[in-house]
Amino acid sequence: MSGYDGALADLVDELGRLPGIGPKSAQRIAFYILGAPAEDVTRLAEALQTVKARVRFCEICGNVSEEETCAICRDPRRNQALICVVEEPKDVLAIERTREYRGLYHVLGGAINPIQGIGPEQLRIAGLLSRVSDGSVSEVIIATNPNIEGEATAAYLSRMLHTIEIPVSRLASGLPVGGDLEYADEITLGRALEGRRVISAGR
Ligand SMILES: [Zn+2]
Repeated sequence: MSGYDGALADLVDELGRLPGIGPKSAQRIAFYILGAPAEDVTRLAEALQTVKARVRFCEICGNVSEEETCAICRDPRRNQALICVVEEPKDVLAIERTREYRGLYHVLGGAINPIQGIGPEQLRIAGLLSRVSDGSVSEVIIATNPNIEGEATAAYLSRMLHTIEIPVSRLASGLPVGGDLEYADEITLGRALEGRRVISAGR
């Protein structure tokens, strides 16, 4: 319901479906595209199609990848005994930026959120449990977001991991409460990682 007709209306509607883009922004972007050089718009359209065709999720950790497994899972120099659990691929980037972490990751694909109908079975939790069940992992660091959903997810995961006796730690407090990991600066996030507290000792 943009008030425009035809192709312009379709574009405004599509843009308005993107996260964080309200009707006014959708309209502004649509008119920007309308006035932009044709080759710029072609490049944008191609980037959209290429990312969809080429980028997928790592079969091991769920991070974004252009191959079956991501560059982090394939890197033999990473500490294979450490797994850091995050909600989204962008959180992997946030933690990588701190340069404090050399282990592996596990991307859940979200957080437990009963209001939006997201339960543990909608997340990549079974994959995590099977990864840690072979005994090669010495610590799981839970780095879900410091908000209600992230905390609920961390509590659930620590219960599940406790039953299979894997040591679990949680990022230290000091992160902006209620926000996302990506909003924490590198130094704060690095400190939270370094000062992580053990919440379940495992064996
Ligand atoms: Zn991976």
